[in-house]
Amino acid sequence: MNDQELREDLAAAYRLIALFGMSDLIYTHLSVRLPGDGNRFLVNPYGWLFEEITASALVEVDADGQPAQPLSFPVNPAGFVIHSAIHRARHDAACVMHTHTLAGMAVAAQTQGILPLNQISMEFTDHIAFHAYEGIAADDNLGERERLVRDLGAHPAMILENHGLLTVGATVAEAFYRMYYLEQACRIQIAAQSTGVPLSLPGAATLERTHAQFANEPDKGRLVWTALRRKLDREQPDYRN
Ligand SMILES: [Zn+2]
Repeated sequence: MNDQELREDLAAAYRLIALFGMSDLIYTHLSVRLPGDGNRFLVNPYGWLFEEITASALVEVDADGQPAQPLSFPVNPAGFVIHSAIHRARHDAACVMHTHTLAGMAVAAQTQGILPLNQISMEFTDHIAFHAYEGIAADDNLGERERLVRDLGAHPAMILENHGLLTVGATVAEAFYRMYYLEQACRIQIAAQSTGVPLSLPGAATLERTHAQFANEPDKGRLVWTALRRKLDREQPDYRN
């Protein structure tokens, strides 16, 4: 993909995160690595609602989160600590998504991670990383970058304890697909727990078989992404601007 295609994909992801109720005012970030050397990546202009973001408004930053071009609005490099750490270390993870949703934050407050309460959840149970809370991720704690990368390892998703959710993907489509279903798993968990009744959990063999089925699924969200891009093209085509 060229830079413009990556910009349109990432702008679409911002619109969809807003559309599906996964944004947190102007906070959290979705980022995509640009081709070439230097660990440059695209991220949202700080202060914009996700529903306002367009392809041309996305900011190109270097590995330290410094903008590559003069900007007419403020930037918040400290806000990119998580993203810059992962883009430096995980070149297979071209796209990084981070959310603060109610269900995600509620599960991030639990010690047990993603319970295998539904087949959706079983993609993540026992196959998700955890990162302990160290305070708001910022430039005054650069050591956290190494711990974030160590904790993520080769996982496709991570629970930031007492904070929120994180997914990565080889493409924007893949990271979004993971984030959508990780969010669904968290919503299912909180809904099921809220009933207060005993919960049904599958055995270990079934859990492992189901996880393997997800892992071997070749599409990785591509069909869904194409359909979602068509939806945006119909309903809010200015994301491409
Ligand atoms: Zn956050």
